[in-house]
Amino acid sequence: MALLEEKNENIIVPEGVKIKNVERNPSFLEKLYAGVLGGLKVTSEHIFQKKVTIRYPEERKELPKDYRGRHYLDIEKCVACEFCAAACPVDIIFIVSQPHPEKVRHPVVFNIDILKCIFCGYCVEACPTGALQMTDVYEVFAPERFILTIDELTKKPELFEDQS
Ligand code: SF4
Ligand code: SF4
Repeated sequence: MALLEEKNENIIVPEGVKIKNVERNPSFLEKLYAGVLGGLKVTSEHIFQKKVTIRYPEERKELPKDYRGRHYLDIEKCVACEFCAAACPVDIIFIVSQPHPEKVRHPVVFNIDILKCIFCGYCVEACPTGALQMTDVYEVFAPERFILTIDELTKKPELFEDQS
């Protein structure tokens, strides 16, 4: 291997192989097209298309009907069976329960480590009572705390319609 001299000194090529610098001098029309007409062409192509940007948070994106966002726990329906925790592929649901006179068991701790959640919805599918649901709320993260506790999970988001 040898270093080429002058302009190509940083390019390593096998011995015996020669490379040539080709300097291009674009014509006036090429410069005009690249600098002005090319830009105008792209602008004119997009100017009449539907806008894809929104002024979040004032405007909110319309979400698909079955969007899987932050969880909601209807604690009255929860029997602390832990089926949801068992179904979770990333093992982020933590439940502590105590006996309950009407429901047999009742959760006293119900945590979801939302930072690790992949929003697969398996926990919701596994819930036999419909206590656990997924809402259309996607603002779930706080900078320092990522565990959703029973207090947050049982707070029904404003716009969320209970599907059970
Ligand atoms: S949505 Fe999936 S990853 Fe998230 S808590 Fe439920 S089962 Fe676990
Ligand atoms: S599966 Fe449903 S009822 Fe059972 S612990 Fe989870 S949320 Fe509660």
